[in-house]
Amino acid sequence: MKFFQTVLFTVFVAGSALAQDFAPFQNEENYQVYMDLKAVTNDELPVEIVPPLLSADSIEFQMPRIVPGTYDVHNYGRFVQNFKALNSKGEELKARRLDDNRWMILNASKLYKITYTIEDTYDYEESTGIFEPAGTSVEDSVFLLNNFGFVGYLKGMDDMPFELTVNKIEGFYGSTSLVGDLGESQDVFEIENYFTLHDNPIMYCVPDTATRMVGGAEVLVSLYSPNNVVSADECMKHISEVLDATADYLGGTLPVEKYAVLIYCVPLEEAGSSYGALEHHTSTVLYMPEFDGERFYSGVRDITAHEFFHIITPLNIHSEMINDFNFIDPEMSEHIWLYEGVTEYNSHLVQARSGIYDLTEFTEVLKDKLDQADGFNTDIPLTIASKFTLDFFKDEYMNFYQKGALAGMCVDLKLMELSNGEYRLVDLLKELGDMYGPDTFFVDENLFEIITEHTYPEMREFFARHFEGAEPLPYAELFETVGFSYWEELEIEQLTLGNVELGFNFETGRLKIEETQEMDEFGKEMGWMPGDEIMEFNGQPVDLATISDVMGDFYENTQVGDKVEILVARPQEDGEYKEKKLKAKAQLGTYIEQNILQANPNPTPEQIERRKLWINQ
Ligand SMILES: [Zn+2]
Repeated sequence: MKFFQTVLFTVFVAGSALAQDFAPFQNEENYQVYMDLKAVTNDELPVEIVPPLLSADSIEFQMPRIVPGTYDVHNYGRFVQNFKALNSKGEELKARRLDDNRWMILNASKLYKITYTIEDTYDYEESTGIFEPAGTSVEDSVFLLNNFGFVGYLKGMDDMPFELTVNKIEGFYGSTSLVGDLGESQDVFEIENYFTLHDNPIMYCVPDTATRMVGGAEVLVSLYSPNNVVSADECMKHISEVLDATADYLGGTLPVEKYAVLIYCVPLEEAGSSYGALEHHTSTVLYMPEFDGERFYSGVRDITAHEFFHIITPLNIHSEMINDFNFIDPEMSEHIWLYEGVTEYNSHLVQARSGIYDLTEFTEVLKDKLDQADGFNTDIPLTIASKFTLDFFKDEYMNFYQKGALAGMCVDLKLMELSNGEYRLVDLLKELGDMYGPDTFFVDENLFEIITEHTYPEMREFFARHFEGAEPLPYAELFETVGFSYWEELEIEQLTLGNVELGFNFETGRLKIEETQEMDEFGKEMGWMPGDEIMEFNGQPVDLATISDVMGDFYENTQVGDKVEILVARPQEDGEYKEKKLKAKAQLGTYIEQNILQANPNPTPEQIERRKLWINQ
């Protein structure tokens, strides 16, 4: 009982102290928001909002249910605790919670201030399902202020300006692409509306930053690495490599004046289920495990290349659904293939064009996307998967990074084909970007007509078949134009191991023959039995570490008719193993291989020219 009273008393004192600290004059023009990083208690950050003066009887306060770029419902309102609507005397007004994200405030004409605390998503007791770069972090050593996770707005009034004041911890710096009035102890940001507030994350911590001019833009890298195993300087080296390539691809300059890359690292053992980044108009937040060296930096490079290209799509080219984003109940566009797919394609294309990838590496990237796309439902058209991505086709979403990217590539190759190399995807994107830009939009259902009008009549049928319809993209035909050969599947002849099914025995650490029903002549001659475990292959010991070298040696240096000797451990009825040497003469077998893509060794002069135009190689 005493404990209870003590707690009540403390809350009361803290509450009144805050009210005293932040009691601005309420006006009709803007929201005034206050976050005190020093006032965190129990891992919760207090937020105070003085909204514009109201005349309504009641008003709804909202936190975002979903934010742009995630294509997933996050319900940020569920992290709000201790919600209070207060009048100017500090007395509580009646407020009723409508659902996770909405509160109805009564007597709204008396409303002076809304206060609540926010639990961060990273430390939430249960799994939040929130993609980490769209999450929030409140720690002693770092604050990741994805503002949409902390600040809400009044329904129908998200177009009004916000003045955000952050009371910061000594030695901390707030990295963001927002321009603010940065003080010793407080930073103040004037922000034009809720969309812009949501679109500009701020990361507060002891700074490790690097700045560089790239393609006319001032690029800031800010890094938080708890174990100091990676550095902002090194990130900048890798990032500027792709941003230089991007500027080059886009005609010399980047389409922004300032861009901030905020990198929030976590120790490997604490990393969440996924990592990656979320795009914004002039910044991006990366959530990265503290990998060692090259793996970390090349990851940062690839991810930043992708996020940066989001400036083009959807930030400069988008439909009405993104332009007037509804944070509670947005309608999904049919064109995630454009927003995510084209972005993903461009991010790899520039790496090929600038020589970061050689021809083999770029071919591997495409082959990987072809293989991965096969793992999704090929009967669902891209536009339908997009429109219903929040519900029916949630599981298909990741295919926009595979088939969506390949679709972007096909548009590129098709445009080059139709224009005889005069017009590429990048030209189309530039034209659309000039036409629309960040503040205007196209009508979602008219996009294919718009592109057709700007390009070639043949494009309409192309979109109808392969985007609105589920007809497979015409890879073979389009790859041919740039001197690549593609087969969806191909029967190939290769030295056989007997056409048996292989597995692995984790107890013994050996490869194991699982199944012999489909065994070919070689397998029969060898005498494989289910359960056999491979110990030696042509005298070389085999385990997980050596298997790929041993097999590589076999395929490279064995001729048909050569003797093949394999030592196996064969399980006996008593559970023991007995060693047995199996022998047969090497033979060829036939296999079906999927998605074979290779640069044609003897391209025609036209193909060479077109390939050069495409990937600059
Ligand atoms: Zn993306």
